Amino acid sequence: MSDSGTEPKSRPRFVAGAVCPSCGAVDRMVIDVNADQRRCVACQFVEARPDAPAEQPVTRVTRASARRVETPAEAVKLLDS
Ligand SMILES: [Zn+2]
Repeated sequence: MSDSGTEPKSRPRFVAGAVCPSCGAVDRMVIDVNADQRRCVACQFVEARPDAPAEQPVTRVTRASARRVETPAEAVKLLDS
């Protein structure tokens, strides 16, 4: 087997618009895909990368039957003199 060149390092990607939760710097957050972390190049803040997509599986709660319990209409009697 021959080594065909060196593998391109997967460089950390900057996250556009990301704000560092630690120092508040904008556009200083990088995603380290190797370490699966995101970190701040301004303050060396490191955090595990949230890998789950934003959307969560919607758990469907079995709703009670759509029937409404209808309260018997009460005649409101105004006390009138
Ligand atoms: Zn920071």
